[in-house]
Amino acid sequence: MESVRTLIVGAGISGLATAAALEGEDYLVLEADREIGGYCKTIKRDGFVWDYSGHFFHFRHPEIEAWLRARMQGQEIRTIHKRSYVAYKGRNIDFPFQKNIHQLPQEEFIDCLHDLYFARAPRELLGPSAPPAVEEHSFRDMLYARFGRGIAEKFLVPYNTKLYATDLANLDKDAMGRFFPHADLTDIVRNMRAPDNASYNATFTYPAGGAIAYVDAIASAVRPGAIALEEALIGIDLEARVARTSKRQIRFERLVSSAPFDKLLRLAGRPHDPAIYSWNKVLVFNLGFDRKGPRDVHWTYFPDPATSFYRVGYYDNIFDTDRLSLYVELGYAKDATVDVEGMLPRVLADLRREGVIGDAHELVASHSVVMDPAYVHITRASLADHAQQTAALAAHGVYSIGRYGGWTYCSIEDNIVEARALVAKLRG
Ligand SMILES: Cc1cc2nc3c(=O)[nH]c(=O)nc-3n(C[C@H](O)[C@H](O)[C@H](O)COP(=O)(O)OP(=O)(O)OC[C@H]3O[C@@H](n4cnc5c(N)ncnc54)[C@H](O)[C@@H]3O)c2cc1C
Repeated sequence: MESVRTLIVGAGISGLATAAALEGEDYLVLEADREIGGYCKTIKRDGFVWDYSGHFFHFRHPEIEAWLRARMQGQEIRTIHKRSYVAYKGRNIDFPFQKNIHQLPQEEFIDCLHDLYFARAPRELLGPSAPPAVEEHSFRDMLYARFGRGIAEKFLVPYNTKLYATDLANLDKDAMGRFFPHADLTDIVRNMRAPDNASYNATFTYPAGGAIAYVDAIASAVRPGAIALEEALIGIDLEARVARTSKRQIRFERLVSSAPFDKLLRLAGRPHDPAIYSWNKVLVFNLGFDRKGPRDVHWTYFPDPATSFYRVGYYDNIFDTDRLSLYVELGYAKDATVDVEGMLPRVLADLRREGVIGDAHELVASHSVVMDPAYVHITRASLADHAQQTAALAAHGVYSIGRYGGWTYCSIEDNIVEARALVAKLRG
């Protein structure tokens, strides 16, 4: 039987970053797909460059960005100050909605401000007759407790329900972690005079070659021949530390998996309650048109339940190209049937109704992909079970990382940071 010191499962960002960090050590990367990249693959068609949904990059660690750029010689990379909006009843409200309620029609602004005040003002100022503050037991509670009914029901609840395709009461209050744009009463009132809509992704970078350019940069630090494509992990004997793949058996000292965590538990035969792990899937349409569309916008959020998609992004406004190039995202429950072909005419009609395309726009190229899983449902139960299961797996030399291995919400930079930290830990 073959053996390897570190067996890595998945050649997405997490698996490749692990391999790159292991440098000269003995490792092998298994990838079920026929290409590397995981969710950071890029499609080039008829002059359009698309990813699996909009993959825009924001780095908090300059050394990681510099490390990547050093491996991307000749690649044009743009840094963009993002412009993002919420499409609300025929007008564009600056994102985040909660900091820009003053842009709403006056009656709706008053609703939001009133409810925000009574949700957030100190109870002693409100007097004894004030209802008790909402307790934050779930993501939904958190939205009502921190922003009040107006903001919650006009944007935060309908938008996130479309995205997550679940009742938000099921999600942990911190289900979006640092990616949720928090704002307190003072921020919101201050923003009415001095706009400051900065968020974790206020600027982003994007390479001319698409997201795969970042993947290729990481892969350039992986030993040639150390990636086995079209070879899936299909079982793990935890006691013997032997992996069964679609082609062979491999003995390992340690195994680092970026496969979805529920799948790893099944492959490793770990007893667990499958109902604890749920997620949404996202149908992405990449659409290329014959002429330019709206300018000065990078993406727009659509909370209206009558509109099929929850977000639309504009690739053509990154490199100022002259034909409208969109990604359009639709959220589905994990067990929902996705009728891709049937959905396209509805999406085009909705794009027209929302003013993204006009009557003259002709679709000249398209691509679609279903990301499954896309956003995992972070719940109290998933957090507790994941912590307990990862500790049990680590005792057998098995580590689960990445967006889906970690059952979390994160960026590609987070994946690189995590992979490097794990390698440092393994080296002791
Ligand atoms: C809609 C959406 C938009 C996003 N936008 C951004 C963004 O703008 N910026 C950003 O930084 N991040 C973004 N992300 C997050 C980003 O996609 C992820 O953080 C990153 O791609 C995760 O990489 P990964 O390697 O952990 O997982 P993956 O990309 O899922 O890679 C896992 C790999 O493991 C392989 N695999 C699975 N099971 C097996 C098996 N049994 N055997 C062998 N191989 C297996 C898969 O084929 C896959 O290649 C977005 C995510 C989504 C869903």
